[in-house]
Order: sequence, then C-alpha cells, then structure tokens
Amino acid sequence: MDKLILKAGREKSLLRRHPWVFSGAVDKSSGKLESGGTVAVFANDGRFLAQAGYSPKSQIVGRAWTFDEKEKIDAAFFARRIAAAAARRTMPSDTDSMRLVHAESDGLPGVVVDRYGDVLVVQLLTAAADAWREVIADALVKVTGVGNVLERSDADVRELEGLPQQIGVLRGTVPKTPLTIRENGIALQVDLWQGHKTGFYLDQRDSRALVRSLSQGRDAMNCFCYTGGMSVAALAGGAASVLSIDSSGPALEIARHNVAANGLAADRAEWMEADVFAALRQLRDRGRSFDLILLDPPKFAPTAHHAEKAARAYKDINLLGFKLLRPGGLLMTWSCSGGISSDLFQKIVAGAALDAGVDAQILARLGPGSDHPVSVHFPEGDYLKGLLLRRV
Ligand code: SAH
Repeated sequence: MDKLILKAGREKSLLRRHPWVFSGAVDKSSGKLESGGTVAVFANDGRFLAQAGYSPKSQIVGRAWTFDEKEKIDAAFFARRIAAAAARRTMPSDTDSMRLVHAESDGLPGVVVDRYGDVLVVQLLTAAADAWREVIADALVKVTGVGNVLERSDADVRELEGLPQQIGVLRGTVPKTPLTIRENGIALQVDLWQGHKTGFYLDQRDSRALVRSLSQGRDAMNCFCYTGGMSVAALAGGAASVLSIDSSGPALEIARHNVAANGLAADRAEWMEADVFAALRQLRDRGRSFDLILLDPPKFAPTAHHAEKAARAYKDINLLGFKLLRPGGLLMTWSCSGGISSDLFQKIVAGAALDAGVDAQILARLGPGSDHPVSVHFPEGDYLKGLLLRRV
C-alpha cells in the first residue's frame, strides 16, 4: 500500500484524532501515490496512525478516512459512513431540507451533502472525495432513497486541491428551475444550480427561527439578507417593518418573491440593493434606528491569514450596527469565518460596542443547527458563531 511516514513528533495531531496531514509533516513517502488514492500514514517510529485520502497538490496532503488499520476504504465504507450520518439526524417538523453529511465532523472529509426536498446536493471538496464521486452518489441514493443527486463542486477550495469546478446531475433529474423548500413552515425558493454554497444557508435554520420569535412589533434591519430567509422569518414573527440590504440584485428578487409566497404584507418590507458598509453609514447619517438588527455577512476570513483584515470589517459593521440600534434593541451578529474564533469574535464585538459608545449584554450564543455538528477533534469545523446582544 502507498505510505506516508511523518517526521518525528508530527504524529501528535493524528493521535488526537485530528484528521489532517500537512505536507510539512511528511518525512518520506512510498508507492504510486495517486491523487485521491488511499495512503497509510505512519509515525516516524513505525506506528500506524490512519488511512487517508491523498491530495498531492494541497498543503493538506492527507485527510483521514479512518484511524483503523483494518477498515477497508471501499464502496461499503462510504455506504456505512453515509448511513451513520443520516441515522444521526431527524428532519425537524414542517421542514424538508437539512444537511445530511457534514464532512470531517461526520467522518467524511471533503464530502458535504444537503437534502432539499427530493434532491440531494453534493459538494466534493478534496481530491480524495472527488475520486470517490460515483461510489458516493450510489451510496447516497441507496441509503436515503432519494433518487436525484446534483453535484455543486464549484467551491473555491477546490482550487487548492488542483481540481476544476464541476456542476452537474449525478443521478436522476434536477430541473434548472428554482425549487421551493419548507423550513419551519415557511416556503423559501432555492436555486440549487446557482445559489450560494449548495443553494441556501441551511446552517442558519435555528437562527431564522429565533429571529421569528424575537420580531413581534419591532422595526428590524436585515443586513446581507441574501434570498431573505431572515427577512421572511422577521415578517412572519410580526415585525412592524423589515429593511433588507444585499448587494445582489438576483438574491433580492428571490427575497421579494419569498415574502409574497408566504402571504406576508409587502408594505412592511423595504429593500435596498447596496453595499452594506456604505448603506449603514447612509442610514446613520439619515438618523434611522431599529429595534432588531441582523448582521450575517459572508466569510470575511476563510483562514487565519485573513483574520486581521476581517476583524476590521466585522468591527466596522458591528460598530455601525450598535449606533443604529435603539436602547433596549437587539443585535444578532454572526461570523462564518473559519479564521475567526468565537473568542476573537466576541472581542471584536465588544470593541465595536465600546467605540460606538454603547453598553450591551450577551443574551445568547448562536451557532448552526445540530445537522451541522462539530467533531470535538476538529475545531476547524466550528466556523459559524454568533451573538444575540441587547443594547442597554
Ligand atoms: N443571512 C442569509 C445569508 C447571508 S449570505 C440567510 O439567512 O440566508 C451573505 C450575503 O451577503 C450574500 O447574499 C451576498 O450577496 C451579500 N454580500 C456580500 N458582500 C456584501 C456587501 N459588501 N454588501 C451587501 N451585501 C453583501
């Protein structure tokens, strides 16, 4: 079998069941070492550590499929892991969409699977996940009984693996027209072919439900609203008004449609196609204020290298958010940047409140729903963190 032998001392993270092997940790290798193939990883003293998928072009050259020397990495392995991930989840009531496989945290590095009604959307993000495409597609259909599988392997991270972007139907049929999903009883239009990630931000489902429960009678502002999931939630929750801001015209169009499709009064909804950084300054200059502000920006820091610049961006929007918040008002603020820890995020938000000259309390810490679990051995999986704050 193909082998990677690590430098002395570099076995520690694998012994702690962290699944990644960095290229700098490898001392020697042997065998054919095909991209996407399975390699056995050994400590310098010869101890077996893991069987890993091999990604020669990436700085993460190996990602552990298993820490068991005897487990065969074959079609049955993928069927087992996918079945286990599916069995751990129950679809929430009045909901037809959720994450089924959450990559490393479900023991399948590089494999993301979301269910949207009767369609499964797959992302294969590493050379090894990519190499098992057909096996994974077959296993998904067999395990879930869902016959339609769309691949959305157009995430930027594939570039680091030397992989091209790939979008297409793997099994069954998936119409190009948008699909309407249900989330906690709310109908939302999703474009599986062109929408962000696999089509939608399923990871914010619980937070959208929280928004709904907090909105009664409030003047709300939803920054980075995308297709309006949180705007619809706020309106359904009885918000007096909701101002939604996004720079994407097509996303706003779907958002407007979603408000109407749920029978919500369009006159409570105000839309702004704008850059949030500029819009918040404009709203401040016009003396606008709100009782509920949502800040759910895109990933400013994909990795820790981008943390400093990202920290400035988070501070900027949160500072302006605090300024636009009425006393007693609520701010819900998130970061989905892997490079920003929850500790650092809280510090940034505290600094923003300080510079805005307001006092605030943390009422709750927010994260993704339980269909996006985080393996205790894989802190990198903890990408989405949020705070619910009250201005006092
Ligand atoms: N809260 C949403 C998800 C937000 S995704 C939900 O629950 O579904 C982030 C959004 O930010 C995207 O729609 C993107 O178009 C938008 N965006 C990115 N940069 C922006 C900017 N500078 N100003 C306004 N919108 C921006």
